[in-house]
Order: sequence, then structure tokens, then C-alpha cells
Amino acid sequence: MAIQNNRLTAEQYEQNFSDIHPPFETQNAALVEANRCLFCYDAPCTKSCPTSIDVPKFIKQITSGNIKGSAHTIFSSNIMGAGCSRVCPVEKLCEGSCVFNLMDEPPIPIAKLQRYSTEKAMENNWQLFERKPSTGKKVAIVGAGPAGLSCAHVLSKEGVDVTIYEKESKGGGLMTYGIAAYKVTPQFCEEEVNYITAIGGIEIKYNQELGKDISLAQLKKEYDAVFLGIGVGIARQLEIPGEKLEGVVDAIQFIYDLRAKGYPTVPVGDKVAVIGMGMTAIDAATQAKRLGAKEVTIVYRRTKDEMPCTQHELDIAMLDGCEIIWLAAPKKVKSEKGKVKSLVCSKMQMGEPDASGRRSPVDTGETFTLEVDMVIKAAGQTPYEKLIKKFNIQHSAFKIKTDNCATNIKGVFAGGDAVNGGKEVVDAVQAGKDGARAILKYLKLC
Ligand SMILES: Cc1cc2nc3c(=O)[nH]c(=O)nc-3n(C[C@H](O)[C@H](O)[C@H](O)COP(=O)(O)OP(=O)(O)OC[C@H]3O[C@@H](n4cnc5c(N)ncnc54)[C@H](O)[C@@H]3O)c2cc1C
Repeated sequence: MAIQNNRLTAEQYEQNFSDIHPPFETQNAALVEANRCLFCYDAPCTKSCPTSIDVPKFIKQITSGNIKGSAHTIFSSNIMGAGCSRVCPVEKLCEGSCVFNLMDEPPIPIAKLQRYSTEKAMENNWQLFERKPSTGKKVAIVGAGPAGLSCAHVLSKEGVDVTIYEKESKGGGLMTYGIAAYKVTPQFCEEEVNYITAIGGIEIKYNQELGKDISLAQLKKEYDAVFLGIGVGIARQLEIPGEKLEGVVDAIQFIYDLRAKGYPTVPVGDKVAVIGMGMTAIDAATQAKRLGAKEVTIVYRRTKDEMPCTQHELDIAMLDGCEIIWLAAPKKVKSEKGKVKSLVCSKMQMGEPDASGRRSPVDTGETFTLEVDMVIKAAGQTPYEKLIKKFNIQHSAFKIKTDNCATNIKGVFAGGDAVNGGKEVVDAVQAGKDGARAILKYLKLC
């Protein structure tokens, strides 16, 4: 069988893409875990959260039955606290720094407790924040991803009228169009966007692309300030022969199609090679397997020590049966009748450290061939070069350069992946908060 769609039954798709971190089944189960917390005074969990959620406080509120208060504590620091409870790599953040790890005991399941409170808040539509009276100031935000939404919420709370311009037909950014469905469903993402914007004073204009439907000059003229939360959208090319063959796909597009069009419609091969070892590569590999691919091999040019994904993510891929080949770089995709037949890889070895102390992979000159019928490229993303050039925005390797969130263009601010080059949702949320504060200062509202 070659690359094809609709491989599984509806039940199999449902099962394969079901919630990877299910919630507590009972209130008692949540209370038992909440009561294990030591409520550390110096709270390493809070310190390791990029949005500084007061973890001991929200857990204490759960123990006393104050779920509304607990949700308020979370959302005050992170308005996407519900989404983050499902997608954050907590093993390297809050849970990774829980003191129980030092005692060889399981850490407090902070994400699950955070989900417990925030889910209740969303289910019951508890509106926990009130918008100040309008200041008459107007801000345009480009991009309804985590950075844009978080920026919008802070500004709206302070009485600023916000209009978000989003090129897609749904909000949430990569939460909606990128992150694996077994972490968050498109339906949840839609509910989260609605919950955030329910504060009022935020209008999202969908299918409006900056650079196509609207220009930066227009936004600058019509609004008091602009925030760019456009993320990094385009997959990096491999620059190898055969890259344009049928059966070679871009991981971002593959995952986008899964999210936007539904699992059965997305074609997958029998034998799939995934290039890269970041979060995107892991998500593409595991989802290819869950779509019905028989063999999935992840090819990475460095060693495990340098891999950008976490051990937890690697474990997910391995538990799904994905194979890993370390120290291998794609060299050529070969075809038969125009379709992918195999992937030729170079064997690599790690070189001497350079001036920065970083070791780079070096080609040994030896090759090997993987028989595959599909290649998924997940070797990183490149920022929106054309857009950044078009508007003369200062950048460093096309990551927007900012000084306290301000770009080189007066009144234009930026944050999230577009500035940091691609981190995590929780970082983008914090960048949105920082951007909003910088804008409030610029507008002399604080
Ligand atoms: C495959 C994949 C899996 C990931 N998995 C995780 C995970 O499990 N956990 C985690 O924490 N993080 C994960 N991340 C990273 C996380 O999704 C991002 O760090 C986060 O979404 C960045 O938020 P952002 O708002 O800066 O950008 P984005 O989420 O990319 O949002 C940018 C928004 O701007 C819009 N836009 C872009 N250009 C324009 C334009 N010209 N005009 C109008 N609108 C525009 C886009 O459509 C989008 O809605 C993953 C990323 C990828 C690619």
C-alpha cells in the first residue's frame, strides 16, 4: 500500500487521538493530590513558570473548595491557563522543579490540578475579570495566537478597545492549527478563544492577512498602537534533491491539515521518515503512526544530548512505536514513477566544539538508505521573511528585534514566536502580557 487516507475506522481514529493526559475522574482524586502539596515558601514551581502562576496559592484554594478563586489565581497570570494545563511541557517547567523530585517521589500533578480548576471555570462560564471603562484608545493586534490573545486580554481589562486581525478563519494560532489533537482538540481551542474574548472590547476580524488584506501603514493610521503576534509559520526547506516529489510533505502543513480537515482526509504512507527532533517532528511522527502508518522513523543529525524535544516527548514517540536514527542527515529523496521510494541519509558524527562551545554534526561520507513512501520535513520553521522585509522591521535572522517589546517602528510592538523564533505557548502568553504593558506605558495609561 502506498500513501493514502482513510486507513482506519472512525472508532480507531477516535481512540488514537484521544486525550493523552486525561483529567481527574473524581473531585476526591483532585483533593488527594492537592493535599500532598507542601506549599513551599519559595515555590520553585512558580519560579519555573514563564507566566509566574502562583502555584501553591491555586492548589491551596482547591484544598479549601474555592475553585473559582483557584481559577482566578491561574488566569490572573495566564489567561490561557486552561490550554497550558494541557500543552505545557511541565516536566521541564513547574512539575520538573517540584521538590518531591528531590525526594524521589512523584511531583505534584500541577498541570492536572490547573486543568481541574480552569476546566470548571470554562464549563460554567465564570467571568472572573471586569473590563475598566473605555479609555477611548484603540490597538490593533495582528495574529490571534497565544501572544495576540494574551496581549488583547490585558489591554481590554485596562479599557483599551482591541481589534485582532487574523489570517485564518479561527483563532488560537498554533494551539488550533499546530499542536497535536491528543493534547488539545480544535473544539477546546475555539472554546478557549471565546472564553478569553468574553471579557468584551475585543473584536477578531478573521481571514484578514497583514500584507495582503491590510497594510501596516493602514493599521498605524487607524489605531493608537499595533502589536505583531504573527508567530513563525513557514517550514524550513531541506535543500536536498527530491524535496519537491509527491510524498514529501511539510510537517506544519501535515499537522495543519489534520487539525483543519480531519484525520481521515489526510494521506499518510506505510513507511514514513520524519526529519528533525523538535516538538513538531515528534508531533508529526506520532500522528503519522496514529493515522495508520506501519513504520515511522525519525531521522536526526545530532545525538540525544542535543535533541530539542524533551525526554517526555521522545518517550511518547517511542511508546507509539516510532524508530529513531541518531546522527543521520537527509541527503536525497529517490523516486519511482514520480513518487517517493527511498531516503538516502548521510551518517554524521559530532565535531569539535566551536568558539561558542557548541558541537556541530559533521558528515562522515558514509550513507545508508531507508525504504520509505513518505517524508515529513520538520527541520524547524523560518519566520515570515517577506513580511518583515516589506515593512522594514528590524530583525535578527528574521526574528523581529524588540526593545522592551517595541520594534524600530514607532507605535509598533511585537512578541511571541515572531520575536523568540519559536518557544512554547506559555512563553508566548507572557510575551503578550509584556507587550500589553509596554503599550499601556506608551499610551500613558499606566
Ligand atoms: C507542530 C507544533 C507543535 C507544538 N507543540 C507545542 C506543545 O505541545 N506545547 C507548547 O507549549 N507549545 C507547542 N508548540 C509551540 C507553540 O504552539 C508556539 O510557541 C505558540 O503557539 C506561539 O504563539 P504565537 O502567538 O507567538 O504564534 P502562533 O501560535 O503561531 O500564532 C500566530 C498567529 O498569527 C497569525 N498570522 C500570521 N501571519 C499573519 C498575517 N500576516 N496576518 C494576520 N495574521 C497572521 C497566524 O495565523 C496565527 O494565528 C508547538 C508548535 C508547533 C509548530
